[in-house]
Amino acid sequence: MRIANVDGRLKLLVAGGAVDVEAAAAGQFGHDPQAAYERFDDLQHWAATVGQPEEAFSPESAGPPAPAPRQVFAIGLNYLDHATESGFEAPKAPVVFTKYVSSFSGPVSQVTLPEGSIDWEVEVVAVIAKTARAVPAERGWEHVAGLTVGQDLSERVLQQSGPAPQFGLAKSLPGFSPMGPALVTLDEIDQPEDLGLGCAVNGEEMQKGSTADMIFSIPQLVAYLSSLVTLFPGDVIYTGTPPGVGMGRTPPRYLSDGDRLHSWVEGIGELQQHFVSAPTNN
Ligand code: ZN
Repeated sequence: MRIANVDGRLKLLVAGGAVDVEAAAAGQFGHDPQAAYERFDDLQHWAATVGQPEEAFSPESAGPPAPAPRQVFAIGLNYLDHATESGFEAPKAPVVFTKYVSSFSGPVSQVTLPEGSIDWEVEVVAVIAKTARAVPAERGWEHVAGLTVGQDLSERVLQQSGPAPQFGLAKSLPGFSPMGPALVTLDEIDQPEDLGLGCAVNGEEMQKGSTADMIFSIPQLVAYLSSLVTLFPGDVIYTGTPPGVGMGRTPPRYLSDGDRLHSWVEGIGELQQHFVSAPTNN
């Protein structure tokens, strides 16, 4: 199953287009994309009975597939070569921070560049399907609704300012968390533990990796997080970025006015971000 958020309405993507879930299900399910995760098994059973598209789907009109989670987790330094390029050794436990929901956007967006050094981090994003508390890693996937593509855009000056890193703020500026175009369930993904992902700036490849190189796999992240906190249906987990970020380059390279960032995860989809300078007042 592939589900998307179009203008705040839950859509089921089928071959050739989309179906409005509330209308097609005759009230069995509501319109709210976030509520899809509260009855995810029921939705998936119903979706298997739907065949014909009723409308076109365009990623330009899509929002994030989980637009209002109760919790957002993000994992730092989760690929060894990215940890190395960032000047760290492989962490012994997941490095966890949050991204604020106010930074969420759909898969195709224009981002106004704030002051500072704006960097890219393509990531696989997992969305939780059922409440998870102390779940063993062997059962981690059972608690995942599916995967989508995310960018963990980061302002590196703010991130590294002060006596302790400011990950939450520096990665939550307006438009800094694009996601989409759809949430893809695991039955549609051949090898979730060996998924290619990458990004390019103005067509030049910057990041390329595979989830096979994660230090902590998605089921291990579910196990670790749920050993400490309760995970709720619809919670979002940014699972870390492969090597090739701008900060790790020699010399460092950051996004500037007019740049176009293209990000993808194999079998799941792609994001397109266009960066523009803030208008000046003088
Ligand atoms: Zn990240």
